[in-house]
Amino acid sequence: MARLDLFGVWDSCDFGETNAMTFLTHLECGHCKKELEADRLWNLCPACEKPLLARYDLEAASKSLNRNAFGSREMTLWRYRELLPIRDSENMLSLGEGYTPIIKAERLAREFGTTNLFIKDESHNPTGSFKDRGLSVAVSRARELGATSLSIPTAGNAGGSMSAYSALAGLPAYVFMPEDVPKLFPAECRVYGAEVTLVDGLITDCGRVAREGVERFGRFDLSTLKEPYRLEGKKTMGYEIAEQMGWELPDAIIYPTGGGTGLVGMWKAFAEMESLGWIGPKRPRMVSVQMEGCAPIVKAFHEQREFAEPWEGAETVADGLRVPSAVGDFLILKALRESSGTAVAVSDPECLEAVELFGRTEGIFACPEGGAALAAYQRLSNDGWIREGETAVVFNTGSGLKYAHLWDKD
Ligand SMILES: *Cc1c(COP(=O)(O)O)cnc(C)c1O
Repeated sequence: MARLDLFGVWDSCDFGETNAMTFLTHLECGHCKKELEADRLWNLCPACEKPLLARYDLEAASKSLNRNAFGSREMTLWRYRELLPIRDSENMLSLGEGYTPIIKAERLAREFGTTNLFIKDESHNPTGSFKDRGLSVAVSRARELGATSLSIPTAGNAGGSMSAYSALAGLPAYVFMPEDVPKLFPAECRVYGAEVTLVDGLITDCGRVAREGVERFGRFDLSTLKEPYRLEGKKTMGYEIAEQMGWELPDAIIYPTGGGTGLVGMWKAFAEMESLGWIGPKRPRMVSVQMEGCAPIVKAFHEQREFAEPWEGAETVADGLRVPSAVGDFLILKALRESSGTAVAVSDPECLEAVELFGRTEGIFACPEGGAALAAYQRLSNDGWIREGETAVVFNTGSGLKYAHLWDKD
């Protein structure tokens, strides 16, 4: 991991008594619980075609790691490397992703007549969205396990992230995007050297086109939750919230949900941290926010279903939430229920208004998905679902800069 070595940060880190790079042990299916060897490339569970989850020797980790020792480590998600899946530090690809600020948003809270509102601002990530977390870890691990080319269907931001880390990995990148995404999304991927295919349709159609290349040319498929390690990168948001808030989790986490990797990842992180003895049993109530024009999880949650039905005719300005069906739907729904959380759909105008409010009060140019989360917070605190004095973390999942066309009023 050359970039960090340059500053001597990596070398000066304390790797703990066992000197272990990672406590990864095996993979386990999130549905049928089948166990698989971790050190080869896998996509979905070969038995039931559901997502695979990485498992660690948390007992050994709890003896070797001390939660108070992270303060002296590098300010990226790799500060939690023993709980990430990379065996050899040479394989960690980093552009400085993760360890984003949590901002106490007092001016915003005053607008709403609330208190204790925090923004986890993911716009600070290298390519401008939190997709960098999942893809830095997944591309690092794919290269470590011998992948020779990478493929991704994307609604926008994941393509840029995968392309950037593929450039660091020296691997060819193939990106499949809806043809109606803002122009900056494909342009960014091409600058990173990726080959972009624009598809007439939604992310699900992109998935179908991408699969042909996966089957014909042996490209490794990095679709959301169709390999186990993007989830690992995203789970670091859970570790960071705990660490940054003094190992006391908030009462509610408001998360704009497309494929749901971040929400499922944070839920996994909380369970891991409890096993490590770093936090107690208290959990935040998890909230999935979707758009009225594409709300399969919200619908399934309120109909009390285990799986979500694909959404017909998905349409919204929040490209990252234009996901008609998610392979990890049952994991999202389980986390919402186990946490006594909820699911909320907001409209395009509400989300854009919230982006302007973000800008005007806190000086944050949020992405529409972040605006959606803020609009949901406003509604939930008005309704009393978030009670007076409760602590809430709202995710701004990316920068508004790639969506500047929405504000181009001349
Ligand atoms: C992808 C994306 C989301 C949705 O994230 P998931 O983890 O897939 O639910 C939200 N916001 C932005 C900006 C995104 O790019």
